Amino acid sequence: MMKRKNIVINIKGVRFTDGEIQEVRYKNIPLRISEKNCSNGLHNILVVFTYKEIQPARYESYLVGVFDDESLDQ
Ligand SMILES: [Zn+2]
Repeated sequence: MMKRKNIVINIKGVRFTDGEIQEVRYKNIPLRISEKNCSNGLHNILVVFTYKEIQPARYESYLVGVFDDESLDQ
C-alpha cells in the first residue's frame, strides 16, 4: 500500500484531497488502481486509471500509467 502511494504521488497531475477520507485525484477525477498479474503470472502490474460517468451511461476512462514490480520496489 505504501509502495502504491509512492508511485501515485510521483505521477504528474495527481493530487491528494484534504478531508477525513483522503482521495487521490487526477485532473480532478478520482483515481483508480487495479492490481493484476502479468500474462505469465510472474509480476505484479499496477494499472492506474480514471473512470467517470460523463453522461448517463456514457463513461470516459483515461489510462494514467502501468507499473510493474520493479517500479514498485524503487
Ligand atoms: Zn511478467
